Amino acid sequence: MEFNVSNINVDKAHFLSAISIYLYKPHVVNKRVTTVRFASALNRDDKKYSTGTNVVDKRTLIAKNPRIYHDQDEYILSNDISVEFRPIVLYSMGTKSCCVQVSAYRFELIVHENKIRFTVFDDKVDKEMLWLKDSLLPKFIKWCQSNIENSTENTTLKLISIEEYQREYERLKFSSIHTRLFNHFGIDITHEHADPQQSNHRSSLIKSKPEFYSTKFSIIQFLFEHLLTENKSLTLSAAYDLLPNELGEQLKSENGGLKSIILSYRHAIKFDPETKLITIADPQLNSITLKKKESSKLSVKTKPCFFYAFHPNSCPLTDEQCAFFHCEK
Ligand SMILES: [Zn+2]
Repeated sequence: MEFNVSNINVDKAHFLSAISIYLYKPHVVNKRVTTVRFASALNRDDKKYSTGTNVVDKRTLIAKNPRIYHDQDEYILSNDISVEFRPIVLYSMGTKSCCVQVSAYRFELIVHENKIRFTVFDDKVDKEMLWLKDSLLPKFIKWCQSNIENSTENTTLKLISIEEYQREYERLKFSSIHTRLFNHFGIDITHEHADPQQSNHRSSLIKSKPEFYSTKFSIIQFLFEHLLTENKSLTLSAAYDLLPNELGEQLKSENGGLKSIILSYRHAIKFDPETKLITIADPQLNSITLKKKESSKLSVKTKPCFFYAFHPNSCPLTDEQCAFFHCEK
């Protein structure tokens, strides 16, 4: 089913900014979702969806009420004028939670016709389809039309609220709370205060952080902040020794070891193959113009800019220039 919204006067920048909002804050429009987590790596199965023109990413919508709904994984296929969401069908394994299966859908900017086309890859008119058409689409159009300054405000990834923290805490009570909270939110409950009003976010001590934590992300963030406070380069083994115990432990279960993690975050940290030293990357190299030369695929920003989020002088590039997502400080 196809819906066209005409006379929108939306340019590419506004369209991409609306997409960023929906990528990072789906809970603003989807009340079943509490937060979102991006896959830290894609496996071969995931990559088969990637074609020459589409970049694939994968995110998990974390259910607000896991007793009722499943977490939902979905692929995101994007190029610079369209983004498609393909929820991955779950064959529920005897769990009680019901699986709300939304069809695949796509937002597409048709600049020369001055319209946005919204396609739902299903002709069935059901509750889910109506949600896409009557809730998601109008919100998306509104985001497209708010000006960029305001939309940066909208994309602000605020610290998780105490309610969300409590919910996730309850939910994880019987599993490995420590590791998961640390991974998801950067919360170290070994230093937890008894008073729930008292903030125990590691993040409250420094700047706020994006919500999609992975072990790799936490490791890079730790080293990034270390490199800029100490202002000198590190060898791999020195970097390894610096890691807090939890991260060092989690690193053991990550594929490829510290070096490959660092290589996959070269927009934040640089490993020089000749000197074998680790330093902070040059943020000027993260500009869209330079990145575009490397890859024609780059379009929707799904990775956070470390300089913007964690560097005291922020990112020297503007939101538009930087190839990475500027999460609010
Ligand atoms: Zn940046």
